[in-house]
Amino acid sequence: MNYKIAVIPGDGIGPDVVGEAIRVLDAVGARFGHHFEYTKVLAGGAAIDAYGQCLPEETVKTARAADAVLLGAVGGPKWDDVPGDQRPERALLGLRKALGLYANIRPAMVFPDLADASPLKPEIIGSGLDLVIVRELTGGIYFGEKGRRDTDLGPAAYDVEQYSEMEIRRIARIAFDMAMKRRKKVTSVDKANVLESSRLWRKTVADVSKDYPEVELDNLYVDNASMQLVRNPQQFDVILTSNLFGDILSDEASQITGSIGMLPSASLTDGSFGMYEPVHGSAPDIAGTGKANPIATILSAAMMLRDTFGLLDEADAVEKAVDQFLHDGFRTADIARGQGRVLSTRETGEKIAAFIGA
Ligand code: NAD
Repeated sequence: MNYKIAVIPGDGIGPDVVGEAIRVLDAVGARFGHHFEYTKVLAGGAAIDAYGQCLPEETVKTARAADAVLLGAVGGPKWDDVPGDQRPERALLGLRKALGLYANIRPAMVFPDLADASPLKPEIIGSGLDLVIVRELTGGIYFGEKGRRDTDLGPAAYDVEQYSEMEIRRIARIAFDMAMKRRKKVTSVDKANVLESSRLWRKTVADVSKDYPEVELDNLYVDNASMQLVRNPQQFDVILTSNLFGDILSDEASQITGSIGMLPSASLTDGSFGMYEPVHGSAPDIAGTGKANPIATILSAAMMLRDTFGLLDEADAVEKAVDQFLHDGFRTADIARGQGRVLSTRETGEKIAAFIGA
């Protein structure tokens, strides 16, 4: 089969980690008889430098014409002085909106071979951690009305949190569908004791849950959820939440694993199209040193194989190759902790690709 992938390497370590994910995809193609066709386009700081704008129309057009998008990361100190609405990171919001990517899926797992990387005590992590955060991505306060106005207390600014029933319903369905393939538990996180938008959220999620009688539904306030994530993270299977709360909780969850360089993510729309990217940013502090861990991007490519292309054996092969890499004692600098054989970004990609071909 032939699959079209729009590739957005981005800034900092983005091009390096994306390059290794492509190496691994090519190894999958060679072993299973698929052809992946890549079209590279710019977004973020690289696009500002080349075209004077962070998200050129050509990039959106190429992404729309592809079966899936593979993204590195955008941003860096070079563009810190660019005005807010033209910053590299705005390209992400623009891509999500233009491509209708309303569901962000972020697994947070602790790999058994890296259990000691978690900052939590071993008795809290137990035999491992495997949860997924389903975050609404194109609504809520990040896209609501915003502005400045004069008030009795002087000049003020406001951002509006607004959710329609339709937006809540469609993201809830993604979470319940995902729970059906996992441990059949959804925890919906809101602030229904204070926010009207959260009260609609809670009621709508409860409605959707009636179509999934096998899935247990829990509701937590966001303050409690953030506490429970460090107190007893094993209680979670699928966490369903809004754009703002999901932004914060998914970073907290990724830190619990202790390995931000290992965590993949997917942003999905209706149908199979998706954009796949590592959870981490462009890591300007290690750009060009060969120290970037490409595994988050390689595992994002595995999510692409499974969720967009429906290539389950191929996705399993990538994940098994990563497990084998860790189990055989290979490490990248960020996860080494004085143990194992430390490999560069490129050597890591080559090793994982070789395990796939083996
Ligand atoms: P970051 O994730 O880039 O880096 C945080 C820390 O983790 C750094 O010490 C970095 O060296 C380390 N790190 C991150 N990824 C790593 C990897 N693959 N291997 C080894 N170590 C890794 O976050 P930051 O420093 O807050 O942000 C840097 C830039 O990235 C900023 O411009 C920010 O806006 C941008 N950013 C982009 C995205 C994205 O494109 N999706 C996400 C977050 C941040």
